[in-house]
Amino acid sequence: MNRLIRAVIDTRALRHNLQTIRARARGARVMAVVKANAYGHGLVPTALALAQADAFAVARLEEGLVLRAAGITQPIVLLEGVFAAEHLLEAARHGFDLVVHDPLQIELLEEYSGAARFIVWIKIDTGMNRLGFRPEDFPAALERIQRMRPPALEVRLLTHLARADESDDQMTQRQLALFQQSTKGLDYARSIANTAGLFGNVELGCDWVRPGLALYGASPFEDKTAAELGLQPVMSLETSVIATRKVKKNETVGYGGTWKASHDSTIAIVAAGYGDGISRGLAGGTPVLINGERAPLVGRVSMDMIAVDVTKLSRVRVGTPVVLWGVGLPVEEVARYAATIPYELLCGVSQRVPLELR
Ligand SMILES: *Cc1c(COP(=O)(O)O)cnc(C)c1O
Repeated sequence: MNRLIRAVIDTRALRHNLQTIRARARGARVMAVVKANAYGHGLVPTALALAQADAFAVARLEEGLVLRAAGITQPIVLLEGVFAAEHLLEAARHGFDLVVHDPLQIELLEEYSGAARFIVWIKIDTGMNRLGFRPEDFPAALERIQRMRPPALEVRLLTHLARADESDDQMTQRQLALFQQSTKGLDYARSIANTAGLFGNVELGCDWVRPGLALYGASPFEDKTAAELGLQPVMSLETSVIATRKVKKNETVGYGGTWKASHDSTIAIVAAGYGDGISRGLAGGTPVLINGERAPLVGRVSMDMIAVDVTKLSRVRVGTPVVLWGVGLPVEEVARYAATIPYELLCGVSQRVPLELR
């Protein structure tokens, strides 16, 4: 019998998705977003598989350090920048590119006296209202950064889209217009698009794109599947049946007895639970692939197990292979049953789950 739950990572699909992104990006350079352990796919193996990416982007300094320690030599962008002088020194030592979104970060650069030359991505807040200089504050921030030398800086400009996954693209249009207006006449490289921006309907046309989810083969859209976008799922979360049992009509299954058999049924107990990152929010009826066939999850997700109604399937026994999401069952579809998004399910795969590269 195979090991129990494992996340099988298809590195060929990763590279395929990067190619799809490149074709879609029409010559723009690709910053592969590998924050949060590459959305649960393993930071280092993912970066190694994506050697053709023009740069990597992470949220935190520590993630960049892990990449450098693994011998990754491509540019690495810290999407939140640094917040302390010693972190700026580390960034200098490892050649990280910095997002600057706050006056404190400009101060840190002004006080830096080393010899490093930073690439500084100035973030403009065009409506997300999370990070970035408001358009009215951006000129002053830019001027302060332009005035600094040393360190010599290469300035680039970015913004982040709040609603590019929605079919109504008014907000995206407004953000694009505000970004264009704020950066008019400036001769710096620009970046706007995340996955939804890149695959959406608004032509954003920039020098760099910043896809995360698309690399992993999932769609951010309600109404467009990953397959329709030309993407292939990278992670298959695989496990096995560890017990089967007959339950009689009116018996219940699992904690809280939340599922009651409406007729005599066969239940498969599967080795996967919230201890592995399988959301306890997954509703009854969530599809699970048992031997390649769909069957509904029943009762509550527990820490190490779920129960699946396999009454309609034949030949289910201990050791029968199970797929929780991946090839044949998109993670986007499973996410809907937990009222969440594929990002959260992918990032949530826990430390207990070994990654298996294929
Ligand atoms: C996470 C992130 C991305 C990638 O977003 P996806 O929707 O996964 O493509 C791009 N840009 C920034 C600033 C991010 O934080």
